[in-house]
Amino acid sequence: MSSDDGVHTICPYCGVGCGLRLERDGEEGDVTISPWFDAPVNEGALCVKGGASTEVVAHEDRLTEPLIRDDGEFRSASWDEALEVVVAELERIREEHGPDAMGFFGSSKVMNEENYLLQKLARRYGTNNVDNCTRMCHASTVYTLRNSLGAGAMTNSMDDLRDHADVFWVQGANPAEQHVITHSHYVRPALREGATLIQVDPHANKTTTDADVHLQLEPGTDIPLLNVVLKTIIDEGWVDDAFVDARTTGVDHLKATLADVDVETAAETCGVPLEEIREAARIYATADNAAIFTGMGMSQHRCGVDNVQNEVNLALLTGNVGRPGTGVNPLRGQNNVQGTCDVGAMPNVLPGYREVDDEAARSAVEDVWGFEVPAEPGLTNVEITHAAGESVAGLYVMGENPVMSEPDSSAVEDRLEELEFVVVQDIFMTETAAFADVVLPATSWAERGGTVTNTDRRVQLMRPATAVPGNTRHDLDILRDVGTRLFGDPDSSDQTTTDSGFDFDGPEAVFEELREVAPIYHGITYERLGLEGVQWPCYEEGDAGDQYLYAESFDTEDGLGVIRGVRHTEPAEGPDETYPLILTTARLEEHYNTGTMSTRSPTLRRRTPENFVDIHPDDAADRGIEDGDYVTLRTRRGEIVLEANVTEAIKQGSVWTTPHFSDARANTLTNDVLDPLAKIPEYKAAAVEVEPTASE
Ligand code: SF4
Repeated sequence: MSSDDGVHTICPYCGVGCGLRLERDGEEGDVTISPWFDAPVNEGALCVKGGASTEVVAHEDRLTEPLIRDDGEFRSASWDEALEVVVAELERIREEHGPDAMGFFGSSKVMNEENYLLQKLARRYGTNNVDNCTRMCHASTVYTLRNSLGAGAMTNSMDDLRDHADVFWVQGANPAEQHVITHSHYVRPALREGATLIQVDPHANKTTTDADVHLQLEPGTDIPLLNVVLKTIIDEGWVDDAFVDARTTGVDHLKATLADVDVETAAETCGVPLEEIREAARIYATADNAAIFTGMGMSQHRCGVDNVQNEVNLALLTGNVGRPGTGVNPLRGQNNVQGTCDVGAMPNVLPGYREVDDEAARSAVEDVWGFEVPAEPGLTNVEITHAAGESVAGLYVMGENPVMSEPDSSAVEDRLEELEFVVVQDIFMTETAAFADVVLPATSWAERGGTVTNTDRRVQLMRPATAVPGNTRHDLDILRDVGTRLFGDPDSSDQTTTDSGFDFDGPEAVFEELREVAPIYHGITYERLGLEGVQWPCYEEGDAGDQYLYAESFDTEDGLGVIRGVRHTEPAEGPDETYPLILTTARLEEHYNTGTMSTRSPTLRRRTPENFVDIHPDDAADRGIEDGDYVTLRTRRGEIVLEANVTEAIKQGSVWTTPHFSDARANTLTNDVLDPLAKIPEYKAAAVEVEPTASE
């Protein structure tokens, strides 16, 4: 809604989905923030990132002209010329290598309508090689929740968790820093009313400050820890038998798996005293309502699917699903990471999570689209990068930065060099755009409208507050133009009115088509969204949307929740003589993912100007490292230099750093081994050595 009082829109950073109000400030495109006190999620409050989010809107580094690489150098080009090159290269690659030689990367930072159009473009081109950065954060969570419960999303809502949860079990997540308003406005009020917070994390952080119990486990030992919890619950008779009998399947498999788990050995593997784990199990299992928050500390392992399955096991075994204050709740990273998956920017599903290899699902979508969708699931984004220069010849990147975000990033750079053609749409010259043949300048979050879907499935409207700068275009308009040129009638004089399937006159028209092909969005219209938004699933226009899922049954084939026992899978790399420590990574409160926006924000950069590594005092002393020294972190894949922060926040034997900074790029070090099912990389554990950096 736009008025003299400003424009109501949604924070561009994390998946909490806080509302804010923007006011235009002068003629230059600057905008300022004021509180939106009635915002449904945050009632006017913002964290430091949200508060500084306008600092990148009129930033001097913004791309303002299309760029084409000529003789190794970028030169300015007209939109016509740039789009002609893009379309000609897409056509050439399809002709010479076939459609599966292209990869398409959507982005959780851009809106539902834009990601919808990108995946439609890929599929009309003839490939399911379309993915988004969810692959890097919660692919394993989405996989497990879909297969074991029904929907790859939070089972509950922040509102009902605040009002009804007696226990928060937070594993591999740090809401106090990474989802600040969830913590301050939903978890903390519940804690003040007597709820208990159990945190499971190898690294002490701001969430620890509010935790009643902190189980500080070794990185990559979540399965043994939860197996001790599950075995304790069974041995102590805390299982909700009525729920397990009526609503689940697979408990015998779990019991058989746990039969040979020795709890003392398992606790030793985790590095956590057995009695502390048992006490945490008692608190969770005997609560009236216990909720799990799960984060990337669980999902970003080669056993990410099994990690999350063990959380599902815990919730189902104790009957903590299907009512307020319970469930398994992934805290989603980016402001539209949920929506990007919902609209089908994934290689295995169409909009609304309809499987591409399900003929009936495909045909329902084809009826609306008017073209045939390829039946084979495509490659995930890391698989696309791995195939670059071999089966993949070209890449279309919208708002993504794989050079920073994918593991083993030096190898990613080498592979991008092998590609015949790369086009990047973005607002800044990212580390990935530097490898492009064509760079298309997009508008920022404050300059365009559309919808985003937050961590608890709330679809909300973003609204433009300021002018489109320079010669930039909305991602939606760029995709419309590419689609129209690729698939429109070449003989028509007016390309915008051909039946290309891309001739939309704005985001609402795209959303209307999305509603037709995605049943969970069918009941949502722009008019209904208003200022409150609507939570999916919302099948009909009269539906209010669901605050929590699975009250009566699960969305599985037989309506039962799936329990499945899992065994410990060690990280692919363990410590050895050359690399005796374990490296793990996580985000900071004041920075955001690949740093494209947050490291350009003066406020955020002032608070944390550069990367650092947390190292335990004993490990530091063994290496002659003092607090504030510069050190070299080295793994089998590369090395970076950064400042040492000597602290007991990390256990002896592990070190911890952040992925945000280009000049000390943590993903130079991380391992690109993948979970076999969800294809998420193992960012959270790699063998590493730390050495003092010789001064010049
Ligand atoms: Fe933005 Fe997330 Fe902070 Fe809310 S909590 S202001 S959505 S970054």
